Amino acid sequence: MNNLAPKLTSEQYENNFTEIHPAFNQNQATVEANRCLYCFDSPCMKACPTHIDISTFIKKIATGNIKGSAKTILESNWIALTCAKACPVDVLCEGACVYNERGEKPIEIGRLQRYAIDWYFEHGMPSLFTPTPKNGKSVGVIGAGPAGLACAAELALLGYDVTIYEGKDLPGGLDTMGIAPYKMSYMDSLKEVKLVESFGVKIKTRVWVGTTITLAETAQMHDAIFLSIGLGNSPDLNIPGEHLEGVCDALEFIENVTTRNWNSVDVGKRVAVIGAGNTAIDAATEAKRLGAEQVMIIYRRSEEEMPAYEFEYDLAKRDGIVFHFLTAPSRIIGNGQVEGLECVKMKLGMPDVKGRRTSHSIPNSEFRIPVDMVIKSIGQKPAESFLSQISNLKFERGKIWVNTETMQTSHPKYFAGGDCINGGKEVVNAAADGKRAAHGIDEYLFSRK
Ligand code: SF4
Repeated sequence: MNNLAPKLTSEQYENNFTEIHPAFNQNQATVEANRCLYCFDSPCMKACPTHIDISTFIKKIATGNIKGSAKTILESNWIALTCAKACPVDVLCEGACVYNERGEKPIEIGRLQRYAIDWYFEHGMPSLFTPTPKNGKSVGVIGAGPAGLACAAELALLGYDVTIYEGKDLPGGLDTMGIAPYKMSYMDSLKEVKLVESFGVKIKTRVWVGTTITLAETAQMHDAIFLSIGLGNSPDLNIPGEHLEGVCDALEFIENVTTRNWNSVDVGKRVAVIGAGNTAIDAATEAKRLGAEQVMIIYRRSEEEMPAYEFEYDLAKRDGIVFHFLTAPSRIIGNGQVEGLECVKMKLGMPDVKGRRTSHSIPNSEFRIPVDMVIKSIGQKPAESFLSQISNLKFERGKIWVNTETMQTSHPKYFAGGDCINGGKEVVNAAADGKRAAHGIDEYLFSRK
């Protein structure tokens, strides 16, 4: 790549990637827990996709029963540490807290949850759950992300023999490889993997179902299959220059940053990120924290249509990221390596089928921005060729269709959850899907309905 940003010192990297939400100490946790009103029929619990009994776990923290608090949390959510650190709590539990209505600061539910779960891992994962005896059935889980881990944990406790197949070197999916290090370390995700393994779940890494072993072989070995395969690669921008050196995919870039070998990740001095979702914001702020001098987000619609959460947008602005709204890339310029980006101005049109306004280019509005690196973050495609191997699999708007009560697909042996059914939501949605699917599989295999 041309024009690399100079490397920083280890101290600067550590400083730039310090966690933005530090942990509570015991005193802070107790004070915050005592602020909770322990609402009857609490709105925070309803707002959480895993329906953690929030008022109960907070009450237990207030009374010093941290182990009991961790148990209450884990009974609903096996991915509780990642969720505590990476969930958009402002729009979920904390956004629903009754304190908001009074114009006061909501209870810091995420940090309290983290306090209890940190305690649990720091105390060596004391035994809280007793698996039921083995029932002789086996389930294969494809993908070791949050949905797969949650499904596997729940099934193992229900007495199933569970094997997770994961293509990457490390399990955890996007929790391990896709969360900005200033939100959480990938090592937190690996603690959750250890917890799931402690229930007897086998995890086979570097095994790509469909390549290392066939899907048919996998299906033959198990009584049911849970698909937690996430999404496939990013679609192409379909503009000239896309294959120049210096163009990369946001998730690949974030994956390199997440492993904390910051010195080994090259970043340009001037970086353009295409797209304005939460992943785009992560990529932009990470590029800035790695030492890029100028980082900009290029988005074809206006600020109002931007898919990123408000707190992510605020974070990016605080990091000095420049936003070019109503702007689309039309060409990446360079001679072997990225040297600039040609863009075109856009205007908004009528809403599309999803209700989002379309955007159209304005003739003769082309302009150039000098950049050294382009990061593509325009979403991910479903893993179509892999899924085409499953007969009678029904899709809805490009996502796998499931019965939302049982998570069963149109092929009775296959269940699915997480990004592959919702197109890319939160970790907590994946955790909820995985748990629900485990009970759906249990009903299916033992006709318990
Ligand atoms: Fe506590 Fe707020 Fe939940 Fe009420 S809504 S139980 S105050 S966290």
